Amino acid sequence: MVVPRGIDVHTPHIARIYDYWLGGKDNFAVDRAAAERVMAATPTIKPGVAANRAFLQRVVRFMAGEGVTQFLDIGTGIPTADNTHLVAQQASPQSRVVYVDNDPIVLAHARALLSGVTAPTAFLDADLRDTDRILEGAADLLDFRRPVGLLLIAILHCVPDGDDPRLIVRTLMDALPPGSFLAITHPGIDQLPEQMAAAEKALTDAMGFRVTFRTHEGVSAFFTGLEVLDPGVVAVQEWRPDSPPASTTTGMWGGAARKP
Ligand code: SAH
Repeated sequence: MVVPRGIDVHTPHIARIYDYWLGGKDNFAVDRAAAERVMAATPTIKPGVAANRAFLQRVVRFMAGEGVTQFLDIGTGIPTADNTHLVAQQASPQSRVVYVDNDPIVLAHARALLSGVTAPTAFLDADLRDTDRILEGAADLLDFRRPVGLLLIAILHCVPDGDDPRLIVRTLMDALPPGSFLAITHPGIDQLPEQMAAAEKALTDAMGFRVTFRTHEGVSAFFTGLEVLDPGVVAVQEWRPDSPPASTTTGMWGGAARKP
């Protein structure tokens, strides 16, 4: 693989670890080793990432069905099958999608992914914590007077409590008009507690920054002030499944809400 400038191949990185779990090829030996250590802690990882991607697709389709044609997808990840813009643009060809990620390798891939895409899709190199920059950058493509679907899919565990992730979510939702939607997925520390605690520690050790797995209550708190949609915050595979979900534990909570 050609390594773009500015890419550190000696430290495991979450986007590349996640890519490995999804069966992708955009990862290095350090990432694979770290990914395997987390997998050894809990068998939920592989079913969890697959169920998480399936949730993302269902929730985007749901929002599109509600008339949403603008999406802000923060924590894009390395491009894989059925990214948000493809799902959204299938429902409505002119859907606008702004992707945000802070990882240079995601950025490099996203440039390649988006070249030749004719529908309005943009990529912003920004940190979730920098809400001003995100909102300013996204406003180039999105019209904040019309509903937006905000996607925080498997990213909030990268923001520790000390950085006040609830305030970050509230700040973003405050900028969006009524009728906007929020979708979140999050590793649950209270699903198979011992295993998930071991996975949280393995991932934290591997990455050199703290990841925070949260409880059902902690994840639900991100939706404060919003109308949580049925069936509430549930295991991701149980959120409006297309077919009866397998009974596997995925370790992931997920939910969606509408801004009144
Ligand atoms: N949303 C995708 C990818 C999840 S992996 C999916 O669910 O399939 C998490 C992604 O969040 C990675 O690409 C990582 O680079 C990004 N990320 C982690 N912390 C971030 C932060 N503080 N700001 C922006 N992106 C971040």
